[in-house]
Formats: sequence, C-alpha cells, structure tokens
Amino acid sequence: MTKPVIAIVGRPNVGKSTIFNRIVGERISIVEDIPGVTRDRIYSSADWLNHEFNIIDTGGIDLGDEPFLEQIRAQAQIAMEEADVIIFMTNGREGVTLQDEQIAKMLYKTKKPVVLAVNKIDNPDMRELIYDFYSLGFGEPIPISGSHGLGIGDLLDECAKYFPKEYEDEYSDDVIKFSLIGRPNVGKSSLVNAILGEERVIVSDIAGTTRDAIDSPYTYDGQDFVIIDTAGMRKKGKIYESTEKYSVLRALRAIERSDVVLVVLNAEEGIQEQDKKIAGYAHEAGKGIVIVVNKWDAIEKNERTMNEFTQTIRDQFLFLDYAPIVFVSAKTKQRLSQILPLVKRVSENHAMRIQSSLLNDVIEDAIARNPAPTDKGKRLRIYYTTQVSVKPPTFITFVNDPELMHFSYLRFLENRIRETFDFEGTPIRIIPRARE
Ligand code: GDP
Ligand code: GDP
Repeated sequence: MTKPVIAIVGRPNVGKSTIFNRIVGERISIVEDIPGVTRDRIYSSADWLNHEFNIIDTGGIDLGDEPFLEQIRAQAQIAMEEADVIIFMTNGREGVTLQDEQIAKMLYKTKKPVVLAVNKIDNPDMRELIYDFYSLGFGEPIPISGSHGLGIGDLLDECAKYFPKEYEDEYSDDVIKFSLIGRPNVGKSSLVNAILGEERVIVSDIAGTTRDAIDSPYTYDGQDFVIIDTAGMRKKGKIYESTEKYSVLRALRAIERSDVVLVVLNAEEGIQEQDKKIAGYAHEAGKGIVIVVNKWDAIEKNERTMNEFTQTIRDQFLFLDYAPIVFVSAKTKQRLSQILPLVKRVSENHAMRIQSSLLNDVIEDAIARNPAPTDKGKRLRIYYTTQVSVKPPTFITFVNDPELMHFSYLRFLENRIRETFDFEGTPIRIIPRARE
C-alpha cells in the first residue's frame, strides 16, 4: 500500500522539525535555538485519525554552504516532486518576511495543494497575527504552536482533505516489485540498464499509475516485474540529488513500494557505514533482500576472494544472515542472469504460507531437542504457533508468558523454521503472545 505524502517547507527556524516531531509522535530530532540544527530523521510514517501517511521535513536536507535561495529551491523542488500535499510553514511572531515571499513564489508553480501554517501562535491572544499571512496567497492560514502542540489536528485535517481518495496497490499482486538501493556510484543505474538490456527481458505494458512514471515494468521468463525508481537512477544534475539525506529519502520511498530490495555494494570500496544503514532500513521494513556485490570485474581476485568477501558481509550485516549474496558486474555482465531468478525466488519466499500443522510439528520437534528456557523457576510453555500474515511471513506463537521467551530462544526457533522451510531472502517475524 502506498500512503499519501506530506512535505513541510519553510525558511529556517520557523519550527518545521518541531512540528515534524509532533506529528511523528516522538522526539526524534534535536531542536535548539540555532537555525539548521542537526537532524537525523527527515522522513517517517505517521497517522492521524484513520489516515496513514508519510511525512517529510525538507528542512532536514541540508545543502551545506549553498545560499538561502538554493537551499530553499531544493526544498521546494523535493516537496513538489515527492508530496501529495505541501505544508508551507511560517513564523507568526515575525510576520511575513521576504524569504517567505520568495518561497511562496516557488510554490505558486506547483499544482499540488499547499496548506499554509503559521507557527508559534502559542496562545489564543496571538491569533490575530495570522491575518498578515493571507497576503502570501495560499488562502486561510492555520494557526499552530509546535511547542504547545496546538492546532496540529486542524492542520492535519486540512491536509487530509487533499489526500488522494484511494491508494490502491499500484500493480497487481502477481507482479514482483523490486528496487536497487545503495550509496551513490555503486552502480545501481548501470545494473538496471544491464538487466533491462538482457536478452529475455521484454518491456511490458502492464499498467501502473502515472504517479511514478519512472518505474520500469517488464516481463522475464513469463514473470512480470517492476523496477521501482530510486535517486541514483534518475538523471542527475539537481544539486540536492547528491546529498546523502536526499538519497536516503528516495531509498526509503522505494523500499516502501518494493517486495524485494537489492542492496547494492561496491566491491571496490568494500562495506561502509552508510551501506549498513541502508540495508537496515530494508530489513526493518520487512522486505525480501538480496545483497548484490557489483563491480566484481574491478578488483583483483584469487580463489579465496569471494569467500572472504562473503564472510565480511556476514560479519558486518549480522541481521541479514538470511539474504543471498550475488557477485556481479554491470560492466562485463558477469552473473547478471542470476539476479532476476533470485529476485523471483526471494519474492516467493517472502509471500510463503506454511500450514499450521507442519509448523507446529517443527516447533514441537525443536522444543524436544532444546527445551524451552525457565526463568526464576518458571518454564516457558509454547502451546501453538500459527502464521498470521505474509510479506514478511509473520507468526504468532501462543505461550504461557511472553516474558519468558528470550531473544536467543526466538532465534533458535527461527533457525529451526528456516532449516525446514525455504525462507531464504526474507525476514520472518515470530511474535510471542500470552494465551487467553
Ligand atoms: P526549523 O528550522 O524550521 O526546523 O525550526 P525548529 O523546529 O528547529 O525550531 C526553531 C526554534 O523555534 C526552536 O528554538 C524551537 O524551540 C522554536 N519553536 C518551534 N515551534 C515553536 C512554537 O510553536 N512556539 C515557540 N514559541 N517556539 C517554537
Ligand atoms: P549509481 O549512482 O549507483 O546509479 O551508479 P552508476 O550506475 O551511475 O555507476 C557509477 C559508476 O560506476 C559509473 O562510472 C559506472 O560506469 C561504473 N560502474 C557501474 N557498474 C560497474 C561495474 O560493474 N564495473 C565497473 N568497473 N564499473 C562500474
């Protein structure tokens, strides 16, 4: 399911990240009295009443030393490209400034709905400060206070009016959606081009929505696939496209829409912190994962190199022990033909359902081999396990006391399940629950 996206735009220090945090519901970024404070998270899912949506704080995409106009142009551009609704945020205590007017001018060009918010209206007496802001030309300004949490509901109500009526799944269920994520220059676009250029790939006319015209649908071996766009695959040029925050933002958006994510590493550069972060997002999102080591042509190798590289990946990505690894070269096309069959297999595993009777046989057998732990004289009892959903496969296991289910025992059960059924490439989730 694709969710509507709200983007917050505004000059520095009007309170964008404060509001973002309010909406997201936790204090996830540091707010200080200096403009452009460090923020880590700029994209998050959130909900309001019965609406689920994603929200972007475009102020968090920091372009370093670029002048104000460039910074703000990038923000406005990102909002216009990524969002369904734009919140244009201003500061009621300072009135309309020249910078607000400059931003307004940029936003006039968009066809997307713009909701004007006047922040720092901390009490009802200050309400009259909003009238000045009609002059920006975006209709009725909505008074809010980030620090007091006032007016946020009204603001979100207004945004929700513009959410697309229905976000259907964009492609039918038997289409495999996947994306390539990774740092800039690891070779994502080269890989996409190489895959699309393969002999047995036929460009397909399966209908997608117009929302993401850069998706590439095609058919391989009778199977429909869609490659979901990420930042690195678009034409480069805009200054923000090379910033880390922006590529993370694009990656998160692509991950969300994918069944399977190819985490692309660059053999020449080895594994870097950012690779782990990116892979971590895909894991957390519960997507099928394939690790693709690209540029395999570019390094010197002997017969041990691949095993050593594999070991390094296993050591560095402990949480991805289920993900298959493939060593390829977009340049020489080495092993590229393995990628799509692997994506297909992982996608099938990601959607696999296991019969309860089989599942419980496996669990009982596991318990017989390695009895459930005790804690303070109380033994964990596992009554019954059942799969409640797919993508990723999720199991609920009914127990006498969930507190007794330690991480290590969960891990043991997971491994037994993995040994019996082919869940290669997909995370699986086991949730202990007290039996009523
Ligand atoms: P950003 O640069 O637009 O993301 O702004 P921040 O969220 O970092 O906020 C800038 C400053 O304004 C911080 O000192 C906040 O504490 C303060 N601030 C944010 N919202 C409000 C508000 O509703 N009322 C008041 N009085 N201060 C606020
Ligand atoms: P992206 O930013 O991840 O999309 O990376 P690109 O596909 O734009 O590739 C970045 C650079 O790496 C380009 O100069 C490519 O020619 C080069 N490149 C990509 N794949 C390979 C490969 O398999 N081998 C070698 N030697 N170079 C590659």
